Parts: sequence; C-alpha cells; structure tokens
Amino acid sequence: MRTLPDADEARLLEALHQPVWIFDIDHSRVHWANAAGLHLWQARSLAELSAREMGADMSESVARRLRQYQQDFERGDARFSEQWTLYPGGRATTLWVGFSGVRLTDGRMAMLCEARPHEAMPPDSLRSVEALLHTEVMTTLYSRAGRALYRNPAARASVPAGNETLQQRLLDRQDLRELVRGLVERGHHKRIARVLTTDGERWHDVSARLCRDAVTGRQALLVSETDISGLKQAQAQAQYLADHDLLTGLPNRNHVIKCYPQALEDCRRQGLQAALVFLDLDHFKRVNDSLGHAVGDELLMHLARRLRGALGPQDRVARLGGDEFLLLLPHADAALVARQRAQELVTLISQPVLISQTELRVTPSIGLSLFPQDGQDIDTLMRHADQAMYSAKAAGRNGMAWFQPAMNAAAQSRLDLEVELRRALAHGDIRAWFQPRVSVETGKIVGAEALARWHHPQRGMIPPDVFIPVCEDCGLICELGAVVLEASARQQVAWAQQGWVLDISVNLSPRQFFYNALLQDVRDILDRTGCDPRHIELEITESVLLGHDGRTVATLEGLSAMGLGIAIDDFGTGYSNLAYLHRYPVDTLKIDRSFVRALDDLPALTEMIVTMCQVLKVNMVAEGVETAEQLAWLQARGVHEYQGFLFSPAVPPEAFERLLRAGSPQPQPQPQQLALAQ
Ligand code: C2E
Ligand code: MG
Ligand code: MG
Repeated sequence: MRTLPDADEARLLEALHQPVWIFDIDHSRVHWANAAGLHLWQARSLAELSAREMGADMSESVARRLRQYQQDFERGDARFSEQWTLYPGGRATTLWVGFSGVRLTDGRMAMLCEARPHEAMPPDSLRSVEALLHTEVMTTLYSRAGRALYRNPAARASVPAGNETLQQRLLDRQDLRELVRGLVERGHHKRIARVLTTDGERWHDVSARLCRDAVTGRQALLVSETDISGLKQAQAQAQYLADHDLLTGLPNRNHVIKCYPQALEDCRRQGLQAALVFLDLDHFKRVNDSLGHAVGDELLMHLARRLRGALGPQDRVARLGGDEFLLLLPHADAALVARQRAQELVTLISQPVLISQTELRVTPSIGLSLFPQDGQDIDTLMRHADQAMYSAKAAGRNGMAWFQPAMNAAAQSRLDLEVELRRALAHGDIRAWFQPRVSVETGKIVGAEALARWHHPQRGMIPPDVFIPVCEDCGLICELGAVVLEASARQQVAWAQQGWVLDISVNLSPRQFFYNALLQDVRDILDRTGCDPRHIELEITESVLLGHDGRTVATLEGLSAMGLGIAIDDFGTGYSNLAYLHRYPVDTLKIDRSFVRALDDLPALTEMIVTMCQVLKVNMVAEGVETAEQLAWLQARGVHEYQGFLFSPAVPPEAFERLLRAGSPQPQPQPQQLALAQ
C-alpha cells in the first residue's frame, strides 16, 4: 500500500499516457486524476471530475465489491486487476484496471486505479466477464492443493479472510472426502455442504469440476456455490413437521418407523437390551367426550411433559397418536430397569392434573416387549408391546404387562375368530335368543331382550362378550346388529300373531349407532317384517349420548319418529349425568346388574340409582335379578320390570314360547297385529 503521490511522483504520473486516478471509496468520488485520466472520464478539470458523484450510477454489487477491496487494502498489500466497463459521457469503454490501496492525508483508505487500454474483445467475452463480476453465484478457482487462485466478487464477499483454502471452507470432513472422491472418479461432484462464510455457517449447494488454470496451465478446481440455507431451513421445518406431533412436540409414529430401527441397531452393536414400552391411557375418550377436546388436548400436553421429564439420557419417547405413547429404554439390563420404570410411569401418569380448576386423573395401561428376546425389529416389538398392553387392559387397566408368546397366539386366534365370524354370519349360525322382561308387579312376561348367540360347530357356545368386541373392531357389528334386529322383528310379529304382544328390546352398539345407514336399515327391516315399531326398543349405552350432540340427537329423533322406543342399557355405569338425559327421547332405563348385585352389601348405591330413575319418570328395568330378596327390594321401590336368572336366562325362541305358555295368561288374539302381518 502506498501513500498519496508526492510532487515528483505526481509529475511522473501526470506525464504518463496511461490513465491513473485515485478513487475515494467512502465518498464515491474521484480524488485525483492525471491528464489521461481526466481525458478518459471526459472531464475538463480535476475540480469538475471531483465534483461528480459516482455512487448514483454504481450498482449495489459494485459498491459492495469496492468496500470489500477497501478492507483487503487495509489488511495488506492487496492488488486486483479487473476488466471494467466505464460509461464516461454515456459511452461504454472497456479497460483493464489495476487496483491498489492508497492512504489519503486524513488517514482513510482510497483506491489507486491504473487503466490499460483493452484490446478489442468479442462481445460475448466482454459480457461473460461482466456476468462473472456481477453474479450472486460464488465462483472460486482453487489449485489442486486447495489454495484459492481466483474468486469472483460474490465468492470474495463470502469468505471472512480472503485466503481460506477449500479445506477451511468446507466445515464437514465428510463433505471434503466425498468431493475429492467425486472429482477423482468422475471429474466433477455436486453436493449440499455446510460452509464457513462471513455470515457464519451456511448451507451451500456446491458444484465442483476439474479444469485447467488458464494462467499456469496446471490442473485446477472450479467451484461454484449458491446459498440454499433458506431452502434447507424450510426443508428442515417440513421434516420436523412430518416427524413430530404438533400438539405435544414429541416425535410421532413416522419418526419411530424411521429412526427406532437405527436405535435398535445401536443397541445390538453395544450389546445392550432395550425395552419397548407401549403406554395407552385408560378411558381417555371419556375425557374428550365429557369435557371437550380442548381439555383432552391440554391433558395430553401435560402428560407428554411428564413423560419427557422421566426420560434418561438414552431413552426416547414418541406419541403414536390419540392417547398412545411409545418409549424406548436401552439398557444393559433393560428387563429389570423397565419393570421399575414402568411402575414409576403408572404412578407418574396417574397423578392428578389441574386443568381450568378441574382436577383430572387418568391411569395408563402399559405393555412391554424386550429387544432382542421378543423381536428383532421394531414392527414385531411394537406389535408385541401392543398385545401386552391389551392384556394389561384386560387385567383391569392401570397396570403393566410383559409380552408373552401366548399373547401372539391369542392375537392369531382373534384373527381366526374374525374369519369364522364372517362365515357364521353368512351361514346364519348367529341367532337371537330371548331373555324375558318380567313385570315386577304382576310377575308376567311383558317383553324380551334379544341377545346374540353364536353356536360354533366345534367350540360350542361362544359368549357375546367374546365375539361382540371383535365384531366392533372389524366392522361386522352392523351386519350382526341387522341380523339380530330382523330376527327380533320377525319374532315379535310371530308371537303377536299368536296373541303374545311383547315389547322386544335389541342392543345397538355405539359403532352401529353412528353408522350412516342405520335409519335406512331399520326402516327396511321394519318394512320387510311388517313389525310394529312401537313394540321394538333399541338399547344404547350412556357413552353414545356423550359428546356427539348434533348427530346423536338427529339419529335418536329419527328412530323415535319411526315409533321405536329408546332404552339406556347398563344405566349407572357411565357418566350418569342426569342433565344430558333430558335432551334425548329416552323411554326406558335399564339399571345395570352390578347395582342389583350391590344390594347385598351396598344398598345405598342401588337406592340412589333407583331414585335417579324415579326422578326422570321413565320406565325402569332392573337387570341381573338372581334372588327373591332382590326382587322383593325392587318391588318395594316401585321398579317396573326386571330381567334375570331368577326368572330365566336368555333362551331360544321355542323355549321362550314354553315360558310364555306356562307363565302368561291365555293368549288374546290381536286382530290389528294379524292384519299388519298379512
Ligand atoms: P346386556 O345388553 O347388558 O345384556 C345383559 C347380559 O346380562 C346378558 O349377557 C345376559 O345373559 C346377562 N344376564 C341376564 N340376566 C342375568 C343374571 O341374572 N345374572 C347374570 N350374571 N347375568 C345375567 P350376554 O348375553 O352374555 O350379553 C352380554 C352383552 O353383550 C350384552 O349386555 C350386550 O351388551 C352384548 N350383546 C348381546 N347381544 C348383542 C347384540 O345382538 N348386539 C349388540 N350390539 N350387543 C349385544
Ligand atoms: Mg342390553
Ligand atoms: Mg345391560
């Protein structure tokens, strides 16, 4: 770097034919110029040239570049040589200009510019040089050793010191290795890499190819880069969204499928075991149904936070969806550790949560499977932990169970059951049996509840508690429901024709209730059988009435408008919120048999349920009456009807007729019913 020319030097410079001028970068003005310089700039005097403000015509990229040069001059003896096109008087003049630093008397760094006329160049070359100077693409020519031989202004602006090697530019060793390999194998390579820039670490799309240095003829490396950090960030964001559950911020099922196999592989390599913990909240749906989804969501967020807080450094947790969570606990002795941790989780999750001044408490059911004993891959381990979780639920919830190979067999037999159920429905092996509904006052049969019975050719009688849940899971419930309803309607008509006009109640599962074609199916069955809808009552459970307001009301009103009765089955075991019952057309409440059983040791509870029914002024049916004492108690409380083994269990229609003949008054002919059936 030099200082301003002294008098002798200035005289010398003046005498030169070569245009020379000093450019004041800070003020975008020419500070000094020799005569050839003035001529080049088409200025009559230095005063006139110095008065010209050059910043206005200067593009932003040129201004940036000049500031960069200024810094480089400050740092050392930097010199640049570029092809410039100037526009004195509006005419393009292309020159080679050499730039070096010169210190002004006030201490600021200016630029000494020495121009050499440019031999005529074809327009394309002129333009390509301009393009290289102005482009945003960072282009660098490196020697084979990685030393920068040339950087275009964009590349120069992006490196902090100016003399960084390619090795320093690429932050990840892996990127450098791959790049070198690509160049050796194919002569070019392209990749997205993390690079060090003046703005810190950025993501660049780096494209490199082997070439020759036009000056030395030696092999060199041309590298061009574009900044794609914005894109990379958007991609990372999208990836995050795809792999995480937005509500709780926990990784989701997607993430589990993608990343847990690697975690298992790591365990295998380190000789560790891992426990897979499948955690499902008990009756979570009730929270959503009764308190709304916002409260349900908040509860899930609280619980997710607790789970996260309970993790050890190696552990992982994910939300699989709904109220299901999955934990992976790697450990040298995972079986022992997981047992203890699962117990802690049960306690942790069961702690009450305070949401909008309401104390909520949910319990978890936990299933565990062990890697590698219970499965080698994540799919098998998850399936096994899931089966174990179901067995924890079956064992009364709020607890844990380890996977046992027998559970696999149980799951298989459930699949077999599904296949056989389809066959049974198609072959008519599922029939309706009838349990008498008896008047408490008169002791006479006034109706019947239809209960599905499956007589399996090999296994014998399979109870509904076994096959109804399977039907619900696999969607066969609507078909089964229609079979039972049609059999009941036909039976109602047949008995009425014989003079026994009975009200027959038929169970409707929640899934069937929310099935779109329910009303149409019921209407078709009534039309086909000619049954009077006033003698059919549909039994639904309390859970159906919670949380689905608009649709529930519409369906119930539709059924009611057809003339069908509505009964609430197992009354008292659900929410027992009297307020909701007023909103629906309910004709009968069936007091669950657990309350009848409770008469022996907790009569106050049964008393309360009966009082509730009385307040609602609807027909009351007590279920599960097994003793004369129970019946006497019901009689004293004015309960209308009862069902139970005391009178009869559910029996086939033929046996039911024998009961009717034995226990009922002589049949009375019913002309209206007969007319209907014809
Ligand atoms: P539910 O509707 O509450 O039916 C009453 C259950 O109590 C019947 O069991 C019946 O046999 C039993 N029971 C009746 N009296 C007594 C008694 O004195 N003592 C005892 N311990 N039990 C008694 P079942 O037939 O095994 O049916 C079980 C459940 O399966 C039913 O409970 C009902 O929810 C469901 N179910 C049965 N048939 C159908 C159907 O066709 N469709 C649907 N969706 N569900 C059905
Ligand atoms: Mg029932
Ligand atoms: Mg019941």
